[in-house]
Amino acid sequence: MFVGHYAVAMAAKAVEPKAPMWTLAAATQLVDIAWSAFIITGVEHARAEPSLPGSPLVLYDMPWTHSLPLAFAWSVGAALLAVFVLRLPARASLVVGATVFSHWPLDWLVHRPDLPLWPGGPNVGLGLWNYPAPEQALEVGLLALCGAAWVAARKQDGRLAWPAIAFLGFLVALQIVAMLSPQPPGELAAESGVTILAVYLIVAAIAALTDFRGKRTA
Ligand SMILES: [Zn+2]
Repeated sequence: MFVGHYAVAMAAKAVEPKAPMWTLAAATQLVDIAWSAFIITGVEHARAEPSLPGSPLVLYDMPWTHSLPLAFAWSVGAALLAVFVLRLPARASLVVGATVFSHWPLDWLVHRPDLPLWPGGPNVGLGLWNYPAPEQALEVGLLALCGAAWVAARKQDGRLAWPAIAFLGFLVALQIVAMLSPQPPGELAAESGVTILAVYLIVAAIAALTDFRGKRTA
């Protein structure tokens, strides 16, 4: 799952507008942001097999980012950061933590069994990646559904709809680019980690723009 994760950020923003959109966008991918940093530093490992359907990734070693207890730990850590560093209200910080945790069940739906139930434990994953068309439909469908809720919440708040719609369009374009980008076979190199990390950070930066309150037109 790639851009589908951002659907959770949009749903979270609809229920808790006090949480900044960049925080929610980073939160929903925090586990993958850490993963790309760990690929760069060699803490975790993956390889690409372009012949695989859906995603070419064979994620054979990612206990510190994608095991169930660690995903929970990242969520608690993010909620604490939200309270003590970003100084968000308690409810918004809880929403940030829950958004971080949402990454794991969504990954569980699509990943082939590569998510450790605990570090060194059995790996799980329903493997929707093996059926690329329904998998893509799920990601875009989640975006459409949660994006609609986000746009509705913005309208209620007297905010413009178009920045949210532009962000949605950007994400769909990103998914298409990612789908069409060939992945060289073999061990995932640090450079790939850098590219992936950059994409997550750029998306979070663009998400921040959707919170910008320009001149009111209504
Ligand atoms: Zn992930």
